[in-house]
Amino acid sequence: MSVVSFQEMLADATKRHYAVPMFDVSNGTMMRAAVEVAQEENSPVMLAAIPKDIEGDSLGYWINAALYAARNVKVPVCIHLDHSATPELCKSCIDAGFQSVMLDASAKPFEENAALSAQVVKMAHAKGVGVEAELGHVAAGITGAPDGCSEDGTSHDTDTVFTDPASVVRFVEETGVDALAVSIGTTHGVYVSAPKLNIPLLKELRNASDIPFVLHGGSGTPYDQLADAIENGIAKINIYSELTSAWNTAMKNFLNSREQMTCWFALSCQEPDRAMREAMREKIRMFKSAGKA
Ligand SMILES: [Zn+2]
Repeated sequence: MSVVSFQEMLADATKRHYAVPMFDVSNGTMMRAAVEVAQEENSPVMLAAIPKDIEGDSLGYWINAALYAARNVKVPVCIHLDHSATPELCKSCIDAGFQSVMLDASAKPFEENAALSAQVVKMAHAKGVGVEAELGHVAAGITGAPDGCSEDGTSHDTDTVFTDPASVVRFVEETGVDALAVSIGTTHGVYVSAPKLNIPLLKELRNASDIPFVLHGGSGTPYDQLADAIENGIAKINIYSELTSAWNTAMKNFLNSREQMTCWFALSCQEPDRAMREAMREKIRMFKSAGKA
């Protein structure tokens, strides 16, 4: 069993200047890939649930598979809820055995965001569960994922609001959150052109508060910018689009190479799984978390 708390994992990342890789994982195959690659790279890892993947009975399947994956490796694993729109979903996940939850009320006015976040913190901390909130707003990109997008994955949310340094101290004090997602130039989904992170703003945010910062929309962000972001206080980076993109591309190539569509499911998933694992490995190394377990 190697499940560790959100706070403990982020404190170590902050102290040793690396970022914890958080992979949004939709099923057992993704969970297994994430923990096995983390183990191979000797890296801590967070497995995160997207609300869409844990609707209704799916929560039970999801959390049991995630706990099984976590127990099968020796590296530290933290099980996290990504982008919950409501305190109710946070409560379901706290009760189900998650180590941390993210309440995302970042599209709401400051007061409402702070009040909802504080409500979740009260509930979560009573059970030793960590909380992440978002201040400012990381929008969805062109193909938008995992949040702020419509059923077919196209975006309807394009308004980025940079995090205001003056509001950070007040927000952290009023809510008691353990980590803060900040908006410094990334967007969710797949980039049409490379993003340009606002590192001077991140430095201002760092000077305002020593709370661990989280970077959403990490997929597709160039390596040198990520290194700069980690150096200036980003302790966790979220990845999803690059994983599904690697998997889907490999599956498309495999299917296009075949005359007929009947074959063992395990066989058709082999190459997509390998491609997704390599995407995870690349991120772990980029985030400097390899060797930090
Ligand atoms: Zn996000």
